Amino acid sequence: MAAATNCLNDPGPSVWARCREFSQRRISTFTVVAILKINQPMRIAIIGGGISGLTAAYYLCREHDVTLFEAADYVGGHTNTVEVNLDGETHSVDTGFIVYNRRTYPLFCRLLDELEIPTQPTSMSFSVRCERTGLEYAGNGLNGLFAQRSNIWNRGFHRLLRDILRFSRLASRLLEDPDDNITVGEFFAREHLSEEFLAHYFLPLGSAVWSCPRNRFMDFPVRFVAEFYRHHGMLNLRDRPAWRVIVGGSRNYVRKLIQPFQDKIRLRTPVEKVLRTPDGVQIFSETSGGESFDHVIFACHSDQALRILGGEASPPERELLSAFPYERNVAVLHTDTSVLPHSRRAWASWNYFLPENDPGKATVTYDMNILQRLDSRHVFCVTLNGEDRLDPRQMIARFTYHHPVFTTERSAAQARHAELIEHRRTSYCGAYWGNGFHEDGVRSAWTVCQELLASDATQPSRNDNHVPHANFAGMHSVNRRGFRHA
Ligand SMILES: Cc1cc2nc3c(=O)[nH]c(=O)nc-3n(C[C@H](O)[C@H](O)[C@H](O)COP(=O)(O)OP(=O)(O)OC[C@H]3O[C@@H](n4cnc5c(N)ncnc54)[C@H](O)[C@@H]3O)c2cc1C
Repeated sequence: MAAATNCLNDPGPSVWARCREFSQRRISTFTVVAILKINQPMRIAIIGGGISGLTAAYYLCREHDVTLFEAADYVGGHTNTVEVNLDGETHSVDTGFIVYNRRTYPLFCRLLDELEIPTQPTSMSFSVRCERTGLEYAGNGLNGLFAQRSNIWNRGFHRLLRDILRFSRLASRLLEDPDDNITVGEFFAREHLSEEFLAHYFLPLGSAVWSCPRNRFMDFPVRFVAEFYRHHGMLNLRDRPAWRVIVGGSRNYVRKLIQPFQDKIRLRTPVEKVLRTPDGVQIFSETSGGESFDHVIFACHSDQALRILGGEASPPERELLSAFPYERNVAVLHTDTSVLPHSRRAWASWNYFLPENDPGKATVTYDMNILQRLDSRHVFCVTLNGEDRLDPRQMIARFTYHHPVFTTERSAAQARHAELIEHRRTSYCGAYWGNGFHEDGVRSAWTVCQELLASDATQPSRNDNHVPHANFAGMHSVNRRGFRHA
């Protein structure tokens, strides 16, 4: 690719000069048209202001005229930091995206480095509390593992520990056989792993990682899970990636990321309809009866994109986008520690709760004091799907998030992402094109940018240190009295 240029500021040689140059170099007419087209600044509409849409806007605004439509009253999507004022203390607490690491988030880290975002190490650990059996343990050392000392002699618990090691071996073997494409449930039936391991470790862990109900996790392709665990060093005790968080909350990277295109963001503007013609794209929202663009990028979720397109969706759009179903999860920020294990020794940064009358949803509580190193008299927690068990007086904010659920069809659909880039003046990005995490959002946007930019999309550019208006990136500010519903 050519060196980075900004076509908006530097139009470069004239069109005729370029044509002469191309004819002398005997480049085909098709290539000439493609190169001339790609060097023309386009008006690009981006639908969705999560990490995927923001990354796309950040790179594309170097050459094109971007407008970002966001349905919510803040940018960031699942990056959603809440400023809490409680009993004289003020904290910025993350309620969505929290952690990343340098090993498995290379493109996201590149962005953070380019934006010079201060980050800090965090501690990742996992606990399980089962209301029916009373079992509690945390995987953060012997003290947490045997938080209940009676487990030293508990045979069921020994089976659980033994099968953690056995699963690591089986998963490594499975990854060597490319034809082994079975679900988690089929894998367990085949390998006779213990019920204790399944119920009190493997299903809670998978359900927590992908925020999906445990029975849906049973339908995940086991190869996908094993690959993810291997990639994240979860199949061995050593060589695990060092996890990090953004100092002062994840909104701090959003604040800097949006600086170059801040005036092009339209908050509270859900796109309702998109019409495509050979000449352009028309975007319809409540406030606009059809605004014209050259190209549209759907950076919202796949099911949301399909709803917006309605009857406009082409057969490949319908086929590929419907391969990624989503699961609804309610997240509550609160200070009620009753959802954590009874024994403090079993408190971890991620705490999975198996209620007696178990609806099967992922009920997981992130201990934000551990994850974000908050120094407070209170324990700030974010609980997914445990709302009914929380003391309403200790709730601070509530949000609804949707996570992609992975099926055995997923990898075939993901392998065809290129088909939906520059397809009828439309491209798609979103974390669902990968494992559902931040790196996947950045990577999918980056893939789209590579096609829509003449220059190298990932060339770092320096921004000044201007901090934008709080309405954009200050996001939510709440206190106990201002309990927030979203
Ligand atoms: C509680 C929670 C914790 C998580 N923790 C982590 C973590 O620690 N690390 C990690 O890597 N990942 C984490 N994730 C995963 C997270 O989902 C991804 O990392 C990533 O943020 C998803 O980005 P996205 O751009 O694909 O989607 P989103 O962030 O959901 O962005 C989509 C955007 O599209 C907007 N939109 C939808 N419809 C329209 C419309 N019609 N018009 C305009 N805008 C529209 C939405 O409002 C939203 O802002 C977490 C997710 C949740 C919910």
